[in-house]
Amino acid sequence: MSTKKKNRNIPNTLKILQYLHCRKCITQKPLGVSMSEWGGYDIGWTKLGLQVWCKKHNCNMMHIDFQGQQHPANLTAKGDVNEKTN
Ligand SMILES: [Zn+2]
Repeated sequence: MSTKKKNRNIPNTLKILQYLHCRKCITQKPLGVSMSEWGGYDIGWTKLGLQVWCKKHNCNMMHIDFQGQQHPANLTAKGDVNEKTN
């Protein structure tokens, strides 16, 4: 069995299986308004890794510690000159 990591394709199309939501936003969202309309999030790199921040409640939603590891990522968008589609 090989210990070499297999490079997987990272698509730049929508592949989200479960959306993240702020717990406070979920409980305060008015009926008839979607979470997409209600929530407002900042997402960015930190010294540890990646953080998702609720702008409405000015609170942390998730902060991932990559523990110094680097992970492959696809930073292209559909239509980019350097688009990676695989
Ligand atoms: Zn919130």
